[in-house]
Amino acid sequence: MHLSVFSYILRYLAGIQLLMEFSLLTLLYIIASVSFILGLKMLSSPEKARRGNQLAGFGMALAIVGTIFLYSDEETLQLGNLGWIFGGLALGSGAGWLMAKKVKMTAMPEMVSLFNGMGGACALIISAAEMHHMVSHSVSLSINGTERIYDPLFDLAPGMMLVMVAGLVIGGVSFAGSVVAWAKLNGRVKDLSFRGQTWFNLLLLLFVLAFAAFIVASMPTAEGYLSGNMVTMFYLLIPLALLYGILFVMPIGGADMPVVISLLNSFTGVAAACAGFLYNNKAMLTGGILVGAAGTLLTILMCRAMNRSLMNVLIGSFGGHKHDHAATTTAGSVKQVQLSDASMVLAYASKVYIVPGYGLAVAQAQHACNDLEKLLVQRGVDVKYAIHPVAGRMPGHMNVLLAESDVAYDKLIEMDDANAEMPHTDVVLVLGANDVVNPAAKTDTESPIYGMPILEVDKARMVIVNKRSMKPGYAGIDNLLFYQPKTSMLFGDAKKVLQDLIAEIKNI
Ligand code: NDP
Repeated sequence: MHLSVFSYILRYLAGIQLLMEFSLLTLLYIIASVSFILGLKMLSSPEKARRGNQLAGFGMALAIVGTIFLYSDEETLQLGNLGWIFGGLALGSGAGWLMAKKVKMTAMPEMVSLFNGMGGACALIISAAEMHHMVSHSVSLSINGTERIYDPLFDLAPGMMLVMVAGLVIGGVSFAGSVVAWAKLNGRVKDLSFRGQTWFNLLLLLFVLAFAAFIVASMPTAEGYLSGNMVTMFYLLIPLALLYGILFVMPIGGADMPVVISLLNSFTGVAAACAGFLYNNKAMLTGGILVGAAGTLLTILMCRAMNRSLMNVLIGSFGGHKHDHAATTTAGSVKQVQLSDASMVLAYASKVYIVPGYGLAVAQAQHACNDLEKLLVQRGVDVKYAIHPVAGRMPGHMNVLLAESDVAYDKLIEMDDANAEMPHTDVVLVLGANDVVNPAAKTDTESPIYGMPILEVDKARMVIVNKRSMKPGYAGIDNLLFYQPKTSMLFGDAKKVLQDLIAEIKNI
């Protein structure tokens, strides 16, 4: 009994001792890491997503402030250049805040791509700056006629060079790829591919990897020497990584961009984790790993949603010929429905599914959509929303859009569950959606979206499609649904059409 009390006290004291050795900075990093994890978890539920974002942001602020004021090592003791650091922080935060305030919901994916690219660029710059730091603390020696750089200060731990090179290459690919994705999403750059590009990309990737492995294996030598040529080779990796990033994203088009955007996002996470290793900064490491893992999981989920294999994405083999298919036209005529008839059909239905798409976001019709839903529910109609995972222009776009207008979360039904209910649905109202309801994905093996799971709205008794014209959607292809006998087109801007429908139904 006495012995166990004694051992308890000893263990308690040892615990205190351990705590005393804990620096305040380590504690801040732990708090920051925990807030990243909790924040990320909260992002998975629409109700808590906003608070999750704020929590993760708070953790990041804590980690940044802690690093600036509490970091010290034997060499630098305390961080200097505070003017530059705070100047950069103010500039970056100001620009980010302004962009986030001004961005339209429909332009969100472009902004996410651009911000992601900035993360990649940071990782690249960190690796390059560390190499510069090594070289600028070195003395140049001529050994056996060969120019070598001796670095007395840089005590390179095993694997550090690997981390530096990985951060440089992955960060470079992520930066260049994300900027191309941004330019493609906002229409500044068109898809570009050439014959044999898949193989060229693959060879370039292998060359970059082999070149990087060679550099890692060759420097520094066991004696702590760096060859001057090796340093030049290290910097040569930058244009190579940028070139691969550009060629990797350039040919990808049609409906495949979401997969690429989330893949690039995971690249940035891994690159940031490399930088965390390099600086032995636990918060940066945790943040990078979380972004890398979340991005990878999202990529896998998006691949499943688009029915693509990850290998296809990695070698950039899909999308290249997709827009050749854009010219495809479907013979046949479409049937139009008058507003008054559409409102009657909706008002007297017992079960209605609304399929929101990119056009709903363009029209900013989410509030009008919610109003129509409430009106129909008041009349006893069972109304739900069928959510396709890649509807809109970013993962979760429709959830965010509808949450903005206070649509109840339990009304948002995921694709598989919604498809199961389609045969028992009276009317499907398609609002500004196109690719995600295109049956060509199931029937036309030549179609660029062939294999992508779709919302099977054609199984419902009647389909009303609202869009402004017969123009195609993002994949640039005609939609077979519009020509089917049970489909009626209700042309017009989604917001105006919804407002008119509401007015009509109120008069019934
Ligand atoms: P689509 O881009 O296929 O179609 C949108 C339709 O909305 C268009 O046909 C357009 O036709 C119509 N539209 C545009 N403006 C309005 C308006 N004001 N009122 C009414 N209709 C309007 O959208 P979907 O949501 O069906 O599919 C998303 C596509 O985007 C998929 O191909 C997906 O792969 C891709 N994508 C998805 C991303 C994601 O992460 N979710 C990211 C990048 C791409 P009209 O001009 O005739 O009105």
